[in-house]
Amino acid sequence: MTVKKCDGDYVVTLRIKNDDVKYVELSSKRWAAFRQLVNDINTGVKALMKGEKGVKLQLHIGGGYYVSVTSGISCVDFRKFYKPYNAVYGDIKATRCGVALRLEEWSHLCSLMVAINAAYPTLGTTLPSYYDEDHTDPMTSITCTECYPFGHNLHLARPH
Ligand SMILES: [Zn+2]
Repeated sequence: MTVKKCDGDYVVTLRIKNDDVKYVELSSKRWAAFRQLVNDINTGVKALMKGEKGVKLQLHIGGGYYVSVTSGISCVDFRKFYKPYNAVYGDIKATRCGVALRLEEWSHLCSLMVAINAAYPTLGTTLPSYYDEDHTDPMTSITCTECYPFGHNLHLARPH
């Protein structure tokens, strides 16, 4: 996991050790949206570890990016999705762009998160796009491709 600055914005790259192919890059706003959802993700992970069936979390963190936790797959998956041409509501598809963290890598990321936010205060205090000032107007916020990348039916997940 690395943090770099790119065009004035922080980019957090999550990758599996010794794997150059599978990684995901999160802008500071996506990192922020992700941080808001860590408790929800951990609830899913705990259910997964208990062997519960029917776990199917798909949490939106901005743009085409989602974090997924699914029964039968012992991973926390960070992945970009796309909406196929003529797709109906909710019908989005995974791309190859992403990284599936095994559960021990996930808990490692959780332990690193505090250190990262402390080391990069600007990154640590960035808020998700849905807190942007212009988003108080619902007519403006639905035009935000960060929050509504696939049209206004599919919105950015907020913590429960
Ligand atoms: Zn937005």
